Amino acid sequence: MTYRGRFAPSPTGPLHVGSLVSALASWLDARAHRGVWLVRIEDVDGPRTVPGAAEDILATLERFGMHADETPVWQSQRVARYQRALEQLKSTGLVYPCGCTRKEIADSLVLAHARNTTLAYPGTCRTGLHGKPARAWRLRVPDGERAVITFDDRWQGPQTQNLATEVGDFVLRRADHQWAYQLAVVVDDADAGITHIVRGADLMDSTARQIYLQRCLGVATPAYLHVPVVTNEHGEKLSKQNGASALDTDKPLDALGAAARHLGLELGSEPPATLEQFYSAATAAWAQRMNIRTSA
Ligand code: GLU
Repeated sequence: MTYRGRFAPSPTGPLHVGSLVSALASWLDARAHRGVWLVRIEDVDGPRTVPGAAEDILATLERFGMHADETPVWQSQRVARYQRALEQLKSTGLVYPCGCTRKEIADSLVLAHARNTTLAYPGTCRTGLHGKPARAWRLRVPDGERAVITFDDRWQGPQTQNLATEVGDFVLRRADHQWAYQLAVVVDDADAGITHIVRGADLMDSTARQIYLQRCLGVATPAYLHVPVVTNEHGEKLSKQNGASALDTDKPLDALGAAARHLGLELGSEPPATLEQFYSAATAAWAQRMNIRTSA
């Protein structure tokens, strides 16, 4: 099997300290496996996309010496493909239109919370729209034992999520006509033949949904590895929203060194003088940490 990995940033701002960690981890894992590393611009969420951010991220990756092995894919150019995937799911009866507004769902969740029952989408529109106009498309999750999805995360260990009680039927196409991240990411990873996904642990909660969606679409499930997220002094994930500082792109070695330290990689006592020295030491340290055999 040829290893195929990827880094899939959302262009909501420049690459920051947290997203550099995900980029670096996915790059090192691909190098340690002597595999292919791809970049996908996740600009499917039009309203959140910041003009120029994707170009900025791509330029920073180049400057930091992480070169994609194939031309980057842009989700905004793949909407016809997402539509086809939705049609495929419609033909199997696995999706249904939902007329619930955010407020209606929030109210029912508050009620559920008060009763100490499930916080998942209650499945109101499973049996029909009850006279309401269709807003979003949802994927029906299984009931009972089949709702339990397990996977073995290469960093975090065994994971379990019950889709019925913890998530509920989830949205594939939103009321604002935007394609949901869950559908786009599964279709794109499958079409690109991705074998290994390495990304931040904030996405761990989405993984069971994505595995279930892969099964519904009849595509393979890749291996998963979720690296710890970088947090600020309040323990919050660094994001553009809470003022994550952009990287000092004039000092790639300093930023990469900090990202490697966050990943717990020991690079030796001599600080690397060049990007090539850095990547060679970091790849060896990653391979050792993740137990990857690098000899041919
Ligand atoms: N676009 C997502 C993000 O920037 C990452 C998606 C993924 O790696 O699956 O948070």
